[in-house]
Amino acid sequence: MMLDTATLRVALAVVDLTLLLLFYFITFRRTRSAYSGWWCMALLLFLAGNAAYLFDGTVHQVWANPSGNVLLVAGAASIWAGARSLRTTVPRPWLLAAAPAVTALTSAVDHPATNVWAGGPFYLASMGVLIGLACRELFLLDSNFSRAHRTLAVGSGILAVFYGARLVAFVADGADGPVFLSVFGSVPTTLFSAIILVVASFTMAELSNEQLNQDLRARATFDSLTGLLNRAAFLELAEHELRRLNRVRTTGSLVLADLDHFKAINDEFGHSAGDSALQAFADACRATVRATDLVGRYGGEEFILLLPGVRPEVASEIAAEISRRLERRTSASVPRLPTVSYGIAATNHGRAELSKMVAAADAALYQAKSLGRDRSVLASHLEEKTA
Ligand code: GH3
Ligand code: MG
Ligand code: MG
Repeated sequence: MMLDTATLRVALAVVDLTLLLLFYFITFRRTRSAYSGWWCMALLLFLAGNAAYLFDGTVHQVWANPSGNVLLVAGAASIWAGARSLRTTVPRPWLLAAAPAVTALTSAVDHPATNVWAGGPFYLASMGVLIGLACRELFLLDSNFSRAHRTLAVGSGILAVFYGARLVAFVADGADGPVFLSVFGSVPTTLFSAIILVVASFTMAELSNEQLNQDLRARATFDSLTGLLNRAAFLELAEHELRRLNRVRTTGSLVLADLDHFKAINDEFGHSAGDSALQAFADACRATVRATDLVGRYGGEEFILLLPGVRPEVASEIAAEISRRLERRTSASVPRLPTVSYGIAATNHGRAELSKMVAAADAALYQAKSLGRDRSVLASHLEEKTA
């Protein structure tokens, strides 16, 4: 049995509509990401474009055929926009509209009432170039970005080459030539398009899931205001690090920091100025400590640091350096940055327990506040005094 183009196009439309509905309701509504929106748009344009081609051979061919070309090229432009939104900004609207506009023009002046391949060369070239641009964007993404984007990059590359080869065959062999009809005509292209649409939609759904998981993981790990570890993530990582320090019998220091009279900053300059002060302190911490140190927001205007291999006396110098950095910072949104008090506890000769260290650092911090703030107090000094 030989499948005719019209039957295949209807089958492709059913596949396209099913994918569009599945993708819209399952993926786009959940993620609202730019690229899944562009993919929905591309599926919609492909659906409309293929529907327009169903009028070929009727009196409506004169407008429907050029419209089909324009809609499919606009679909390819959406794929480019979606791929680019993963890496950088979406192309300017006039860049996206350029190829569909020229396709409309070249198709309209190429006897569309009688010629089903009106504007064929420009249409094929636009499809190849736009999908090739999408492929380029996907290949330019960091290799750690996801696993799924690789599949999309290869898939779009194959599709771009397919359209390039169609163009060559069309120009060399003609629309009625045996090579063009058997390899690159409407029937093989429709089948090929259906496969590509299914594979791309499933891969896009996988990509969206990966992105969603990464996002959830980041939100569960980092404090959204300062970008530091949140309390739970800090405690989990610190437990792990302390076990390692105990094993290798290495010293380390735990620092609790509390911004002084922070409430006054909020009261005088407003809550957003307070937020900027918290961010400034986080920046000062990041600029001072090493990449192997752990820094977290313990809650409100309290922060916590674990400095492996650092004796408490050195930790006190590091704390002073953080305060100096904060003092040197000028911020347009906070006229006056706060001073900071620190409580510092050391690992106890390879038998450190995190909860005890936090309690000791907290007591030392309380002492720093009582002594007039803007200073650090070592928990060991407290123990000596109370002993
Ligand atoms: P002390 O020197 O004794 O630490 O005084 P303080 O004013 O810093 O301490 P207090 O505990 O009285 O006030 C802390 C304030 O921090 C109260 C709370 O509104 C504010 N705060 C907590 N979280 C945030 C935040 O995310 N943003 C802003 N802007 N303020 C916050
Ligand atoms: Mg506090
Ligand atoms: Mg405070």
